[in-house]
Amino acid sequence: MKNPKISDTVDAVKTIIITVGAELTSGHTINTNAAWMAKALEPLGLTPERVLTLRDDVAVLAREIRSAVKTHDIILITGGLGPTHDDVTKAALVKAFKTRLVRDGGALAGVRRFFRGIDRPMAPVNEEQADVPEGFDVIRNRYGTAPCLYKEAGKASLFALPGVPFEMKKLMKTEVIPRLKKRVSTGFMARTTLRTVGIGESALYTLVEESGVVDDNVELAYLPYFGQVDIRLSATGETSAAARRAVRSVARKLDRVVGQYVFGRDEQTLEEVTGEILVSRGMKLASAESCSGGLFASRITSVSGASGYFLEGVVAYSNQAKVKRLKVKQSTLDRYGAVSAQTAAQMARGVCATSGADIGLSSTGVAGPGGGTKEKPVGLVYIGLCCNGAVETMELNLGMDRNRNQQRTSSEMLAWLWRVARDL
Ligand code: ATP
Ligand code: MG
Repeated sequence: MKNPKISDTVDAVKTIIITVGAELTSGHTINTNAAWMAKALEPLGLTPERVLTLRDDVAVLAREIRSAVKTHDIILITGGLGPTHDDVTKAALVKAFKTRLVRDGGALAGVRRFFRGIDRPMAPVNEEQADVPEGFDVIRNRYGTAPCLYKEAGKASLFALPGVPFEMKKLMKTEVIPRLKKRVSTGFMARTTLRTVGIGESALYTLVEESGVVDDNVELAYLPYFGQVDIRLSATGETSAAARRAVRSVARKLDRVVGQYVFGRDEQTLEEVTGEILVSRGMKLASAESCSGGLFASRITSVSGASGYFLEGVVAYSNQAKVKRLKVKQSTLDRYGAVSAQTAAQMARGVCATSGADIGLSSTGVAGPGGGTKEKPVGLVYIGLCCNGAVETMELNLGMDRNRNQQRTSSEMLAWLWRVARDL
């Protein structure tokens, strides 16, 4: 049987996540709960159709809950369950379902137990934690005081969880997901990500489309960021093994088409993969950075075990430092300027010579927003790579934004290093 497409699955079981809190709508707190919950639903084949973020407002929340009950099968709410005046979720549930709050004996015992467990006196306001909308099941929260609420409302399963990320996650894993598993019979989803570098999103897309390896049952998404593009493969199947098989088979075929750009899978980073290659080749690395200000070295050393291959990173920002630390010739600076292929080349060679590294990378450029000229505009960057004594340089023409220019420069250095190290 042909597996349902993921979009069909989405249509079959409509899921909505509602996150509540003025701190979220105002931008003061980043809504990590929504992202975490959506990812946690993925293995069940559930992709939220809608993610809502609402401030603490009883009327608005009640209206959205009433509407979601009519249109969605799974409703997950987080936040606003606490006992303080700004926590309105219970009041909104009462309003939406035209019910009332009743004190739940089990929940009250649970709250008391929680405070005994942490050896703190319980403020009277916490007794209200045990007030729940009538008609709701109470799911005990062992990790905090606000219990999780659950209701089958028409065709919808509704869960209201506390907003504290730690509590929400524990309750999702131990209580909500097991219940949802029983409820969804749409099949299972498997995903894998091929991570690429050195090719743009549209070129990658064209290569893949023209290759004919795309399978109807496996959906592809292209996710670009800072010079890298992830190809995310998703498939549903009747068992999780079947879904995994479908994804693996297409990933293998894709590897044949775009493998030269694929540096890793899933959570692997370019920094890690490059480090592993350097270790396996027994190569030592050093860097000499000007416009990237040490970002490359920072990314290299973000990997545990980098001391096994990274000798040193010099941030040679001034001309003086380029001459003194990296043996760049004053005459080169005078003739071509600091932002030049010649300077980048001497920086890369220089850092190899002074550190004893096998591979040296360098950067010099106009990061901006000031400092640009007609000949050398903002975003003009040269990077150099010296490998076993042979030097090459690359010219980059980036944009106007300083932060992005520094990021992009370090990404290009890293990508180049990966290609050269891999092909050695
Ligand atoms: P409790 O009574 O245990 O505090 P609660 O349901 O009332 O639970 P909130 O008061 O809404 O939770 O939020 C508690 C904490 O969790 C706050 O610091 C809040 O900023 C954070 N939080 C709430 N919702 C989210 C979210 N969607 N993403 C990230 N953090 C969140
Ligand atoms: Mg809140």
